[in-house]
Amino acid sequence: MAVYEGTFKWNSSGVPALDGELRTDSRNWSGAAQLSFGTHDATGRDATRLWQAMQAADTIHVQQANNSSNWSDYSLTASPIAQGDGSWLIAVSRSGGTGQASNGQDTSATFTVASATSARQCTEYDVDGYKQHQAPVGMQSSSSAIGPSLAWCQYCHEVFVAQEP
Ligand SMILES: [Zn+2]
Repeated sequence: MAVYEGTFKWNSSGVPALDGELRTDSRNWSGAAQLSFGTHDATGRDATRLWQAMQAADTIHVQQANNSSNWSDYSLTASPIAQGDGSWLIAVSRSGGTGQASNGQDTSATFTVASATSARQCTEYDVDGYKQHQAPVGMQSSSSAIGPSLAWCQYCHEVFVAQEP
């Protein structure tokens, strides 16, 4: 288990969050079924690897940065999903809390991740039936090697044939 912390500016406008922000689908904390975070926290730290590592049943504790009596607890019901606009949408169920920050206030968020090295699977296939890997890295072979060129996927950790000779 690993615990990470970040500072995100609460914005009560609708999703998606801008960079450094936290927003929710309900525009409040108590009714949220989806949390939206920017890629970076409000201090500029890149949380991409956290969003990629989080999975269902991991938890997020959000509290007003300067008033810990305003807080909410959530558990993930699915992995965070990159929205393509720099924000990450996270389906959650709220397990408790009271109050919330006012619009524009900083929040402290604590992320508890069960496994930072969880198993990942690439599930997309191209028209020829070859598995399409999300993060392939070419593997160096000696210049005298005869045979296919191999690659390794950073996402699912599978070694596969990148190009047949
Ligand atoms: Zn893969």
